[in-house]
Amino acid sequence: MSDPIAREDAEEAPRRRFELDDQGFDEVPAKYRRFYRHWKGPGDALGANEVVCPVCKIVIRSTRELRSGDRLYCMACMTRLRVREGEAGRLEADCEY
Ligand SMILES: [Zn+2]
Repeated sequence: MSDPIAREDAEEAPRRRFELDDQGFDEVPAKYRRFYRHWKGPGDALGANEVVCPVCKIVIRSTRELRSGDRLYCMACMTRLRVREGEAGRLEADCEY
């Protein structure tokens, strides 16, 4: 008999979870603000749960660790995105049409 939880773990390593705080991103409705923040430029470090929208250059944040292949929706510019592994293992996002 196989434990469904163990099987799930075998398919995908557990993802880290993140607490998101409101960083004052006021271009989306208040209840969604914590999922976005402004990109502060080249010195800005992205968390494992963050990726920069290639269209509007804001940072999209998730409560879960992001992985290559994940789909995201940028509410700020209404673009559908797909996460991929970019240079140096950093996560980047491409537009999906
Ligand atoms: Zn965007």
